[in-house]
Amino acid sequence: MRIVLYTEGMYKRILLKLSGEQLQGKYDGGFDAERAQWIASEIKKVTDKNIEVVVMIGGGNYARGAQLAHGGVQRVTADNIGMLATLMNGLALVDVFNASNLPSRILTNIKSDQIADQFTHRRALSHLAKDRVVVVSGGIGRPYLTTDTAAVSLALELECDVILKATKVDGVYDSDPHENIGAQKFDHLSLKDAVEQPDIRVMDKAAIALAYDHNQSIIVFELLQDGNIARAAQGEKVGTTIS
Ligand code: UDP
Repeated sequence: MRIVLYTEGMYKRILLKLSGEQLQGKYDGGFDAERAQWIASEIKKVTDKNIEVVVMIGGGNYARGAQLAHGGVQRVTADNIGMLATLMNGLALVDVFNASNLPSRILTNIKSDQIADQFTHRRALSHLAKDRVVVVSGGIGRPYLTTDTAAVSLALELECDVILKATKVDGVYDSDPHENIGAQKFDHLSLKDAVEQPDIRVMDKAAIALAYDHNQSIIVFELLQDGNIARAAQGEKVGTTIS
């Protein structure tokens, strides 16, 4: 029997959204196993606290539909390729997680019987109950969407307490901090402001609108700081909270 003591503010189940770019690590594209090992060690700090972890994995390190759809390549085809990219990431990531002593399983929202189990609500919950990290690939499985929107949908479906959206910057700013040194960081933003303010582009608007409709909290934080995922998962102040 597992006895779990939760401290106040600590979440029980989190959804971590990782973009493909975060998996390319030191390379210009593709998959960097060393980066994946580091992510495994960071997620382990979360599961060691008996917090369940669901990962929605992106594919931008290989393909993004919107960029690929030109010169005769149809948007639907390009998005299908993008979804396959998320499957490639998920497969490699789960191998690295398991090799790093972080028990994990991949589920996919695109039919890929030979390679990975189809996502079902029940399967995901069953893996979580066995203390496995669940990595979901294939987004929602339909074109014209991104893995950000899929992340919000999945967090709602699996009743995750919060979405941790890992980024390159340490939160949400009123303008691009790489372009404007006077850019101001928000500690907190309302979901309404995140939907309505055109300059706030943390996730695509479809994702934020879905979160707003269902009151799903999101924390936008910098991935590449040791302990950040665990701090956010335990309710410590990290990055920008959108709620
Ligand atoms: N995609 C899709 N439907 C989904 C999720 C993703 O068609 O439900 C496609 C889309 O082309 C997208 C690509 O998969 O650009 C990769 O996902 P995303 O761009 O969200 O990856 P990230 O930027 O997070 O690496």
